[in-house]
Amino acid sequence: MSVEPQPTLDNVFPRQEIAVDIACVGFGPAMGGFLTTLTNGFTTEAGSALQSTVSPGMPPQVICYERADDIGFGVSGVVTRARGIRKAFPDLDCSQIPMAVPVKHEKLLYLLDPLGASRRSRTLRLADLAIRALGRILPFEQHALELPYIPPFMRKHDGIVMSIGQFNQWIGSQLMSTGLVQIWPAMPVSEPLIERQAVVGIRLADQGVDKTGEPQAGFMPGMDVRAQLTVVGDGPVGAVGRAIDRKFGMPEGHSRNDWAVGMKMVIELPEPSSLDPGTVLHTFGFPEPEIFGFLYVHPDRLASVGIFVPSWLPNCSRTAYRYLQHYIQHPYLWRHLNGGTLRSWGAKSLQESGRRGEPLLAGDGFARIGEGSGSTNVLTGSGVDEAWTTGTLLAEGVLELLREGKPFTRGNLESAYVGRRRKSWIDRESQIAEDARNGFHHGVIAGLLGMALAGFSRGRFSFAHNPQLAGQQIGPPELFYERRLSPDQIAEIRNRAEINNMPFHDALMSASGWPEIQHDGQLLITHQDALLMGGKVQAPLGYADHVRFINPELCRQCIDKTCVSMCSGQAITRGGNAIPGFDREKCVYCGACLWNCPQANVEFHAGAGGLHSAEN
Ligand SMILES: Cc1cc2nc3c(=O)[nH]c(=O)nc-3n(C[C@H](O)[C@H](O)[C@H](O)COP(=O)(O)OP(=O)(O)OC[C@H]3O[C@@H](n4cnc5c(N)ncnc54)[C@H](O)[C@@H]3O)c2cc1C
Ligand code: SF4
Ligand code: SF4
Repeated sequence: MSVEPQPTLDNVFPRQEIAVDIACVGFGPAMGGFLTTLTNGFTTEAGSALQSTVSPGMPPQVICYERADDIGFGVSGVVTRARGIRKAFPDLDCSQIPMAVPVKHEKLLYLLDPLGASRRSRTLRLADLAIRALGRILPFEQHALELPYIPPFMRKHDGIVMSIGQFNQWIGSQLMSTGLVQIWPAMPVSEPLIERQAVVGIRLADQGVDKTGEPQAGFMPGMDVRAQLTVVGDGPVGAVGRAIDRKFGMPEGHSRNDWAVGMKMVIELPEPSSLDPGTVLHTFGFPEPEIFGFLYVHPDRLASVGIFVPSWLPNCSRTAYRYLQHYIQHPYLWRHLNGGTLRSWGAKSLQESGRRGEPLLAGDGFARIGEGSGSTNVLTGSGVDEAWTTGTLLAEGVLELLREGKPFTRGNLESAYVGRRRKSWIDRESQIAEDARNGFHHGVIAGLLGMALAGFSRGRFSFAHNPQLAGQQIGPPELFYERRLSPDQIAEIRNRAEINNMPFHDALMSASGWPEIQHDGQLLITHQDALLMGGKVQAPLGYADHVRFINPELCRQCIDKTCVSMCSGQAITRGGNAIPGFDREKCVYCGACLWNCPQANVEFHAGAGGLHSAEN
């Protein structure tokens, strides 16, 4: 008896398939570096050109897919020494890139707490008392101590202040004008195509589906893009890189446990402003001692101001937006910002495990570049130039293999790319930085000491590594607020928040001494208004939810619900039945829910949209 073949999605809605030479995932600084060096090498001075193997007679076919709706929708500070970027553009003129300017003044500041609301250890409180007492003879003003010296490993004095969105746009338009590469925004890549232990291309996300991914009217299965080489530069929380990690595993002893969420605002400074373009302030100490911050001044009275909320801040009530609002109101900064206007804001995760989080850099048919490949240096506080340079190193290796007609096997990529990377300044500096931040697992003072130890000893001395998962570094409120609130008070705040359907984390912060934010409708605006400003939330129809809660029962039993308080876009809510809800239209795609859940109960897929701005 013959059995009728069952219809499957793939034969009812056949997937389109194309073949290219090189498929690229994500367009950030790493991919900018890769594609710039690659396309520069396609044609030699003698005019002979490399040829495509899939379209003979043509140059190699290179296609890059970016999930955000525009290639200029990155989120980052940025001050960068731009060593790699300048190598690619020796005559770089900052005035060609909107919002870019050479660094002019640089300061490192310890911010004291003018409100008495942050959680400071006894040692830090004693240090604060001493600083205030000696304030007249120290460079101390507006509750901030200017450190007389910036360690050489942190200095950016020869660098550039930029907007990553503008930089990406600038690079992208140069690349597209060569006609040698196609860059497609609004195209999330859902997964790598893996056959017989090799990556053979990528699959784009399905469209015309409901929240759960089920086909609806207008269903369009994501195209398969088959490629000889897949270059993965999908940043810290990229779904493609993580799928490769799951399939091939991480190198022995490597893991990604240290993270931060960086949230920033672009502020139009009030007129007149005494802040010169090119001014760079690095801060620590406030709003919590664990939170580092920055203020970078661009031309035309614009400033980027932001904070990093790290995984080792042991506070489940970790709302970056509220912390950022308190940060900008620190008297040292507020005197420059008060009266300014919020132009845009954004948030994004940073992978802070550095070299220890380095995945398999290359395998049969694929190579990894950028922050997802462990390039960000947590000692120098630098990620853009490192990401860019990993891209250029891969491109040099790929050009070598193309010229020699060698296939993109693991062995060939290891010698052409990984070998180059191991000999580069990226690798040397990442070794020094490897254990630089371990001290923060033992407290802020130990953390700062550890950075100094590692930096000055060139990595020879540091604190021991704590292999705790990021989500498990976050403690319950009863512990974090023990000096200010009793467990009974916390229980009551929790009850009241639940009955009134108010955010628990906000109520907790207010009860523990943080003043309510006095909204001025201009710079201090509600989180909801920030999401709506300028129409910058983008959630195109027809895509599945990219955030999912794996085991609802775990959520039901979870009391603290860190995923709700830390969500950068208020996209995760308490939901019904104690299971969080997810609203894609509010998700800014920061990726922080992936690593903040103590139970690792969140799936984070490739998604379209997000809240970004070309000024970020
Ligand atoms: C607030 C903040 C401030 C910072 N300040 C500085 C600073 O002052 N100096 C500095 O050097 N660094 C700074 N950084 C770090 C820096 O931004 C990163 O190290 C750098 O952007 C990494 O570049 P990348 O190309 O590896 O990744 P990304 O810039 O993250 O780019 C990856 C791209 O891939 C896309 N992508 C992801 N998944 C997919 C998918 N499935 N399909 C298609 N596309 C996908 C993403 O949308 C993104 O555009 C800061 C970061 C933040 C968040
Ligand atoms: S995802 Fe579930 S388990 Fe994780 S923090 Fe949120 S509610 Fe708790
Ligand atoms: S739901 Fe979206 S905005 Fe919220 S933490 Fe996750 S990625 Fe960020």
